[in-house]
Amino acid sequence: MGQHHRVLVIGGGNAGISLAARLTRKNIGDVAVIEPRETHYFQPLFSHIGAGAAEMAEAVRPQADVMPRGVEWIRDAVTDILPGENAVVLAGGGRVTYDHLVVCPGLQLDWDAVPGLAEAMAGPHGSSNYDAELAPKTWDLVRNLRSGTAVFTQPPGPAKCAGAAQKIAYMACDYWREQGVLQDIAVALVVPTPTAFGMPDVDAELERKMAEYGMTLLTSTTLAAVDADDRTVVLAGPAGEREVPYDLLHVVPPQSAPDWLKNTDLPASGDEGGFVEVDPETLRHRRYPNVWSLGDAAGTTNSKSGGALRKQVKVLAKNLVGALRGQAPQARYDGYSVCPFTLSRGTAFFAEFDDAYRPRPSYPWLKMAKERRWQWVMDRHVLPQVYWHLILKGRA
Ligand SMILES: Cc1cc2nc3c(=O)[nH]c(=O)nc-3n(C[C@H](O)[C@H](O)[C@H](O)COP(=O)(O)OP(=O)(O)OC[C@H]3O[C@@H](n4cnc5c(N)ncnc54)[C@H](O)[C@@H]3O)c2cc1C
Repeated sequence: MGQHHRVLVIGGGNAGISLAARLTRKNIGDVAVIEPRETHYFQPLFSHIGAGAAEMAEAVRPQADVMPRGVEWIRDAVTDILPGENAVVLAGGGRVTYDHLVVCPGLQLDWDAVPGLAEAMAGPHGSSNYDAELAPKTWDLVRNLRSGTAVFTQPPGPAKCAGAAQKIAYMACDYWREQGVLQDIAVALVVPTPTAFGMPDVDAELERKMAEYGMTLLTSTTLAAVDADDRTVVLAGPAGEREVPYDLLHVVPPQSAPDWLKNTDLPASGDEGGFVEVDPETLRHRRYPNVWSLGDAAGTTNSKSGGALRKQVKVLAKNLVGALRGQAPQARYDGYSVCPFTLSRGTAFFAEFDDAYRPRPSYPWLKMAKERRWQWVMDRHVLPQVYWHLILKGRA
């Protein structure tokens, strides 16, 4: 006979561990988390690692250390979900059944979606903070560049912390300025959107900083191809395609839900991203009431981030506990998200907004889009501690 759990969570990342911890704090027993990886990453630090402002050791913990006490860890990967049978299929061949299922396996990085991209990342001039192995390489490339062209790209479509593509660009410029070489480096920032971010105040502050660094912003533009041997990228913009040479290339790759999840019955029909079809407020599946989702893999309307899912965890935990008692969902997620823009290796501001890009500041009495020292200290030093000691313990 296979295993059965009252609450089964797929993915022991930011969302899965935070939720499992919160459920155990609410005295919900028989919770299991399926997670194949032996290590747990705090991904927001990858931006600082790429800028030489943090070490990888600070962003990694053994998965065993973050698994909440009393929660069973199933060390395997899910390959299929059979919601009609209340079962999931494991790569190791087993099946696990559930009363309630929470789906949060995060996003997959679609390196093959851009021709030549994977080869460029393996080559000597390309990197991406989105891969734990590559983030330290970003710093090697940044500190060794003395002149030439640096290209930073942000992908179209859903991405985890979309603004992270820009953070490394500003921090690299700050380093090059400190080294006295910024004037010898042409820096291009490529974004798919019509403006740098999409909120007037935030755009103005980012553009002020770009002007200070002498960066070129290419809007409504995407990375169409990379030729690592020639060291050129093809950029597709409003005026068509053009080739640009590079000496340093930092790419945030296109992202989507994991392929195996796309092939289940959980995404809405026609959703090419493959995200779990939930009510974006209650986080309950629209067709399978004992299936829930949160975090990057959920088909919600917000901009995907750890800050967004921190709010989702509270809502989902409340609604799931209610459902276990036979109650209808009461708590609602309001689409909040956040992006810390690190404007240098010592200053930042937090863009906080909802799913219509309306401001949602935590400190309404402060001008939100303003470069500050203390917000960098929060992002670099305080939030990692909050993550390990409060968020992953279901306390924040
Ligand atoms: C470079 C970078 C910078 C970022 N900066 C910020 C920031 O400043 N602020 C912010 O709020 N957010 C930031 N984020 C985003 C944040 O890290 C994510 O939004 C958050 O980690 C999403 O949590 P999640 O649990 O949905 O996914 P993840 O944390 O990615 O976890 C998913 C888990 O599911 C597991 N999994 C995958 N497939 C399977 C399977 N088949 N079976 C079982 N388990 C599986 C994975 O191994 C993983 O452990 C950043 C991300 C990156 C990459």
